[in-house]
Amino acid sequence: MATTYHVLVIGGGATGAALAHDLTLRGMKVTLVERGELTSGTSGRHHGLLHSGGRYAVNDKESAVECIEENQILRRIAPGSFEENDGLFVAISDEDVAYKDKFLAGCEECGIPAHEVGRQEVLKLEPNLNPKVQLAVRVPDATMDCWRVPMRFFATAKRNGADIRPYSEVIDILRQGDTVTGVRVRSHVDGKEYDIHADLVINATGAWGGKLSDMAGVSVSVRPTPGVMVAVRGRWCHMVVNRLNKPSDGDIIVPQRALSVIGTTSWHAEDPDRLGLPEDHIQKMYDKGAELIPAVKNAPMRAAWSAARPLLASKEADERDISRTFKAIDHRDRDGVEGILTITGGKGTTMRAMAELTSDLVVRKLGVEAPCRTRETVLLPYWAYYD
Ligand SMILES: Cc1cc2nc3c(=O)[nH]c(=O)nc-3n(C[C@H](O)[C@H](O)[C@H](O)COP(=O)(O)OP(=O)(O)OC[C@H]3O[C@@H](n4cnc5c(N)ncnc54)[C@H](O)[C@@H]3O)c2cc1C
Repeated sequence: MATTYHVLVIGGGATGAALAHDLTLRGMKVTLVERGELTSGTSGRHHGLLHSGGRYAVNDKESAVECIEENQILRRIAPGSFEENDGLFVAISDEDVAYKDKFLAGCEECGIPAHEVGRQEVLKLEPNLNPKVQLAVRVPDATMDCWRVPMRFFATAKRNGADIRPYSEVIDILRQGDTVTGVRVRSHVDGKEYDIHADLVINATGAWGGKLSDMAGVSVSVRPTPGVMVAVRGRWCHMVVNRLNKPSDGDIIVPQRALSVIGTTSWHAEDPDRLGLPEDHIQKMYDKGAELIPAVKNAPMRAAWSAARPLLASKEADERDISRTFKAIDHRDRDGVEGILTITGGKGTTMRAMAELTSDLVVRKLGVEAPCRTRETVLLPYWAYYD
């Protein structure tokens, strides 16, 4: 299926990884450049929750459907990369209990398997939960390793011929008139600068998407929306624990190896390179986390960090109300500039679907007939990347 088309992907996060894999399977020559280590942007720094879609089932159904579909596909193509522990949405207050019917109806509408679990059984499953817990809903959430999963996409793409270049920062987008023809790169290994020419350039820089589009002279309304996460020592739950209510601060606890990761908050940042780590957000994670599992209140902190979501929206919208869905943009249609696409929005969970949508656009533009094969191609193990 090999073609002579060369596609250059900017950004070595989960989206770039899945994109490099998809495009090589469709026969493209692929070069991917990442300014730092692979997954050093947002992708290597999220909770590690493989979403069932439950979190979005009431207010963001499009994203919920994407999550449950990808949840099932990723388990199939990346076996062994998930702790298949499921998730509980727990009701502590009467208000949470009142949310249950809406939640179950949303899950049913979106195709998310969900069933109610009574108080006694909940406490048997998770004895450290707040004893005030009244009931829970069980869904197929899972714990994932947010570094290893994208590395499996990179490993497979590399084995299939993709040229993956970490520590290679795009410092300029090359244009001839209204057509993007490539990028100028600075290597952070030897400091050299050089050009790479390509038939198409794809901006997969997540929260940095706006910066890259400014360089190219095109427009993307990416809104860097950071959140704080706190990892405490001790594995205080077996399953992913969520609050049975509208998405809010500190309402997720993900067990990761011997730690529990509490997240998260949400605010608007102008610059994804200057997020900061507000002290009061760390305290909030402890306080809100303790409403779910009281013992986390006194658990020693292992780490606290922030990372930015690449949300698609106007500056005025409330962060929690912005959809977690994704979009592939052809800048010929939006800005009259040929040769450059942007993929943004989405979740770590939807990395493969984001790549499929973008690659479909690539083959349509190039007039190549090459269907997506990533739904059934089992990925190599992460360590094959270093083989
Ligand atoms: C607080 C928080 C918690 C989250 N929790 C979850 C979760 O539990 N589960 C889930 O599924 N999703 C979660 N997400 C969402 C998920 O992390 C993101 O949607 C996903 O990681 C975005 O991947 P990406 O590849 O698009 O972006 P990134 O991973 O940010 O990749 C973009 C890359 O582009 C690179 N780059 C930028 N500029 C340049 C340049 N000039 N040249 C070269 N490279 C460049 C960056 O270094 C970066 O590595 C969470 C997000 C946040 C913020």
